[in-house]
Amino acid sequence: MVKAVVGANWGDEGKGKITDMLAKEADIIVRFQGGANAGHTIINDYGKFALHTLPSGVFYDHTTSVIGNGVALDIPVLFHEIQTIIDRGVPMPKILVSDRAQIVMSYHKDFDAYEEERLGGKSFGSTKSGIAPFYSDKYAKIGFQVSELFDDELLKEKVIRVAEQKNVLLKHLYQKPELDPEDLYKELQEYKKMVEPYVCDTALYLHQAIKEGKEILLEGQLGTLKDPDHGIYPMVTSSSTLAAFGAIGAGVPPYEIKKVITVCKAYSSAVGAGAFVSEIFGDEADELRRRGGDGGEFGATTGRPRRMGWFDCVASKYGCRMQGTTDVAFTVLDVLGYLDEIPVCVGYEIQGEVTTEFPPTHLLEKAVPVYKTLPGWKCDIRGIRTYEELPENCKNYIEFVEKEIGYPITMVSNGPGRDDIIYR
Ligand code: GDP
Repeated sequence: MVKAVVGANWGDEGKGKITDMLAKEADIIVRFQGGANAGHTIINDYGKFALHTLPSGVFYDHTTSVIGNGVALDIPVLFHEIQTIIDRGVPMPKILVSDRAQIVMSYHKDFDAYEEERLGGKSFGSTKSGIAPFYSDKYAKIGFQVSELFDDELLKEKVIRVAEQKNVLLKHLYQKPELDPEDLYKELQEYKKMVEPYVCDTALYLHQAIKEGKEILLEGQLGTLKDPDHGIYPMVTSSSTLAAFGAIGAGVPPYEIKKVITVCKAYSSAVGAGAFVSEIFGDEADELRRRGGDGGEFGATTGRPRRMGWFDCVASKYGCRMQGTTDVAFTVLDVLGYLDEIPVCVGYEIQGEVTTEFPPTHLLEKAVPVYKTLPGWKCDIRGIRTYEELPENCKNYIEFVEKEIGYPITMVSNGPGRDDIIYR
């Protein structure tokens, strides 16, 4: 069976933890989109890890990790990550890299940084991992596909063509050093050496695995609201964050995705710019940020403080709907245990009217949150393993959210560890 694990919100919902947990029963874990720009934090028997490119299932020796064709493959980052986990005692993972994945080049990162610099105060808050330039090139058909590393004639011709085009921008728009096709060729040769042992037709591999009845997890990066089509465009990422894209970015039939586990966080956080209706500021935000996640809400890639907010039913309902949710995993609920009262955003007031449907960006920017305040439970719920044992007000919070978003919360995560989970 194929299951997708995806985010309902702006990312950082705890997909890594849920994937790591579900990977115990899985055979194959596939990354199908995104690149090294966002990270997953995972805490398990080996310690605490921040992964950017490897799927969250790499810590088990029974799983195979697949980097799907939809991923922005940063080969040096991938290898650094493999080395880091091995150095810390994790057995060498079984890794397969799609021959149709495309490669993040060093110039993609440079272009990312140059563009942020050019935009100055109007920048997107990119992590400068090269993701937007990478996907632009992919769709402009000037990207390098892993398979092309094995066609020397093609490479030699293509590096010249690509450099020609890039150098116009480097010279005239950015006034930066130009690319030398020879250097690009050398860079690609380095990547070839590194990636060669892992390359295969991963879609064919998954096709066989489905036939054999293997358990496959598709692991999403970021969340619905960062999707380029259905998110807060243009403050989005450059590849689709939706479960539906799992079919494309992994190369499996859409009808094989039987479960969509949408990870939804019990409060809100976001990185980067863009409308964030239930955002909070000052001491209130600082306290939630400090207590949030595991050791505070700071970016796994950049260490940047995340923007904080109360739970947003409008955004989360939409986030779950666009994913095609079958199950909601409601995470980091334990963090809210310090609050006397917990505001929840239940509607947006836009130009004098209240709506519970998530609007496009130009209206979102005008939205004022409508809050309902629920009583807190004022205790630590970590360690609780059954739903019945949760404090009454905590159950009320879960059930209130479930009713507002309209999708079943079948898992409640009450701590960062693998076992901190309550099934309903
Ligand atoms: P991802 O990108 O969706 O995987 O999310 P991140 O890993 O960036 O952020 C989630 C953070 O919350 C990580 O530091 C996790 O260890 C932590 N986390 C996940 N689930 C829980 C939970 O239920 N409770 C607490 N306190 N922390 C959690």
